[in-house]
Amino acid sequence: MAQTELWIDRTKCDGSRLCAELFPERISLDDWGYPIIAPGPIPGSLMPHAQKAVDSCPVLALALRRVERRPPPPPAAKPS
Ligand code: SF4
Repeated sequence: MAQTELWIDRTKCDGSRLCAELFPERISLDDWGYPIIAPGPIPGSLMPHAQKAVDSCPVLALALRRVERRPPPPPAAKPS
């Protein structure tokens, strides 16, 4: 099943803090003002906020990525 997650390129981020202001539901700031992205898929109801944060990043450090999640394999059968 495909899900959308927020991804950050930390080598580009300049700590402008804009993304945390636009998407506080999933982005907080560390002690130095750099973003911390909450892990996990972005629910559809938050996608407009996520997209706005991505579009507003001045250095294109944020992106939305589609991630394939596979269900865990069934437990192995016990030898008889
Ligand atoms: S908006 Fe972009 S550059 Fe600014 S803190 Fe967020 S990821 Fe970094």
